[in-house]
Amino acid sequence: MRIDILTLFPEMFACVLNTAIFKRATERENVRINVHNFREYTHDRHHTVDDYPYGGGAGMVLKPEPLFEAVDAIKTETQGEGVQPVPVILLSPQGRLFSQQVAAELARQSHLILICGHYEGVDERVVEHLATDEISIGDYVLSGGELAAMVVADAVVRLVPGVLGSDVSAIDDSYATGLLEYPQYTRPPEYQGWSVPEVLLSGNHAIIARWRREQALFRTLKRRPDLLDRANLSEQDKRLLSKK
Ligand code: SAM
Repeated sequence: MRIDILTLFPEMFACVLNTAIFKRATERENVRINVHNFREYTHDRHHTVDDYPYGGGAGMVLKPEPLFEAVDAIKTETQGEGVQPVPVILLSPQGRLFSQQVAAELARQSHLILICGHYEGVDERVVEHLATDEISIGDYVLSGGELAAMVVADAVVRLVPGVLGSDVSAIDDSYATGLLEYPQYTRPPEYQGWSVPEVLLSGNHAIIARWRREQALFRTLKRRPDLLDRANLSEQDKRLLSKK
């Protein structure tokens, strides 16, 4: 997978992209991430990327030309690499809400372009004629799209086949199954008088799997009952939940 990120603050990505899963994914060549400063696609002496909003008001608005040119340059460079049209995703508090399902959908693409807005946001022509998708990471306003792009890229990259080692798996993660994940424990078996549940020490994989499913169901019922309406539940799951 290739991810191109357009930003005015490429330095914000350096540490994140050189650490942990991102580092491993790029070293193993499962993922290539390019960060571009779209200020480089300006042609005036001052490299202007923003301007006052028409109609007045506070703040500055990102001009359309550098963003259109940057996306064009990436598409020209990658022409012929993939058959699908490349999703051009604008990070925006007004976009569709990001979720594990959206991450899984994006992880099936071979190429993504992420645009980070700033200031008061971007000229609406970018929204209407350049972006093919708008994604919000939550109902709050960040000062720029950089942190949102990192969140999206992280959640997507860990779902790309081969990125997580066999020691880590996304299969049982919260939301992947439609439920929250079961509780996890590690050594020591007892700490300050708090014990690890006996069942996890039993070595009986069938009983452990059943216990984990129950815990995931009960935890979801307690913390996020809204998820149960959409979860894929067996008859046994439903019986268990009805007793609670
Ligand atoms: N004036 C805009 C509005 O009210 O919708 C908010 C602009 S915000 C200060 C600047 C940039 O941060 C946005 O263009 C977007 O790229 C990014 N951003 C802010 N909140 C975000 C969120 N919840 N999810 C994704 N991106 C966000």
